[in-house]
Amino acid sequence: NIYFNEQLIKAMEFDSKLTLNFPDDRERKYRDYYYDSSIVTMRVSFVVVSLLIGLFGYLDSIVAGDYFTLFVEIRFLGIIPFLILVFGLSFTKRFKDYWQLALFLSYIMSAMGILMMIIILPDASIYNSGLMLVIFAGSLFIRLRYLAASMAGVISLVLYNLFALYFREVDITSIITNDFFFISAILISGFASYHAEFYNRQNFDLYNQIAVKNKEIKNNNVNLEKIVEKRTATLNSRNHELNEEVNYRKIIETELIAAKEKAEQSDKLKSAFLANMSHEIRTPMNGIIGFANLLHEAEDETELNEFIEIIKKNGDHLLNLIDDIIDLSKIEAGILEVHTKPFNLNLLTKEIYDLFLMENNVLEKGLQLILKDGMPGNEFYIITDQTRLRQVLINLVKNACKYTDVGSVEFGYSVVKNKLNFYVKNTGIGISDKLQESIFDRFMQVTIDNKPKRESTGLGLAITKTYLKMMGGDIQVRSTLNEGSEFSFSLPIEIVERSINDKEDEL
Ligand code: ADP
Repeated sequence: NIYFNEQLIKAMEFDSKLTLNFPDDRERKYRDYYYDSSIVTMRVSFVVVSLLIGLFGYLDSIVAGDYFTLFVEIRFLGIIPFLILVFGLSFTKRFKDYWQLALFLSYIMSAMGILMMIIILPDASIYNSGLMLVIFAGSLFIRLRYLAASMAGVISLVLYNLFALYFREVDITSIITNDFFFISAILISGFASYHAEFYNRQNFDLYNQIAVKNKEIKNNNVNLEKIVEKRTATLNSRNHELNEEVNYRKIIETELIAAKEKAEQSDKLKSAFLANMSHEIRTPMNGIIGFANLLHEAEDETELNEFIEIIKKNGDHLLNLIDDIIDLSKIEAGILEVHTKPFNLNLLTKEIYDLFLMENNVLEKGLQLILKDGMPGNEFYIITDQTRLRQVLINLVKNACKYTDVGSVEFGYSVVKNKLNFYVKNTGIGISDKLQESIFDRFMQVTIDNKPKRESTGLGLAITKTYLKMMGGDIQVRSTLNEGSEFSFSLPIEIVERSINDKEDEL
């Protein structure tokens, strides 16, 4: 036990140390195993032993003398045919059921045949004694189990003694001499085959146990693999979930940061805008109140008219400012709606043109005002939001006039399929590249420094862009500093075909 694993050794228990039988089902299995692993050796041994017994017959011809014929008959009509018979039977199906008995009988048959010859011719039997050694020790070779082999050996020995004593001629000394020889051979071969069988069975048992353990290990491995597989799958899916969660949180975090920045920016801009607005409102208000107080102190009619003109101008500016603020707050509140209807675009552009001919900037700076309609004639009917389009055009043309000191302001349009492309350009002060980036932003005006002092709220373009977006359009600017700017926007429209009646009217 100290050499081996206890559990394995414990399992090696025989029914009895004498028979070496297993106490249980193992015995049957062992016999099957023993047969299967022995049958070839057994057949070979039968051939070899038959040959040996036959060849020894040659020695008979030299020493047997008168008994030669008898000995040949014993060998070739007795022992060898019996061995050949068993050899032949070993190829039949049921041989397994009685093979040990057949081997047992073969053993006794061969032993008795040879012993007979020893009894008949004791003096010349040295070579036959050798052959007996082959038989006694050969039980291992023919695969006869140890107990049967030992019994066969003892039986042969007893029979030899009986026959030898029965044929009185045999010298008692020769019998005793042979007995010593035979007993030694039986003992030695008995011990050898006992141990051979013992270890054979032990090996068998150990192999069995290893097989059982292997199966257990295999099962465990399979189970383990399954568990590992399952755990891996769970881990993978958990990992996946976690990754998604992390990604989701990352997105939310970026969104939150962006929203926070936007809110902060917007808050800053709004505060600055409010501060600025109160200043912007105060300036024309001061003008109005100041000059209103001066009215009754006017020296003559000309001065009075001058004061009234200043009050009117400041009032207009204030009104514009308030209009812009109202528009913006409507946009902020999201209550602006688009109302489309058919109208004459060429009439609208003409109205705006006429309006700006009288505009202060144009008159004071002597600007040239140019209108280029894309469609000829007085009438070109389209469907879109007329009011918003008018506001957009007024904003852009007003800016163009405001930011031009000398030169011209030109506006016009072209129609490509169902798209209206408008442009408003001026030879003005231009807009720096940096400023171009922000002019359409709400409240941007507060961020501009060092610009020539002009009436400005910084709301016009933001409102313009929002209107265009609502109508499905968009606006761009191209400008070179000190040369001029061009604002262009496109708008999806529906063109109203003029009816035949209209044409007839025209004719
Ligand atoms: P406001 O003109 O009241 O400041 P806008 O939103 O209409 O507000 O214009 C934003 C800014 O864009 C202006 O302050 C001005 O600097 C610039 N800008 C707009 N139109 C022109 C133009 N035609 N030429 C040069 N600069 C312009």
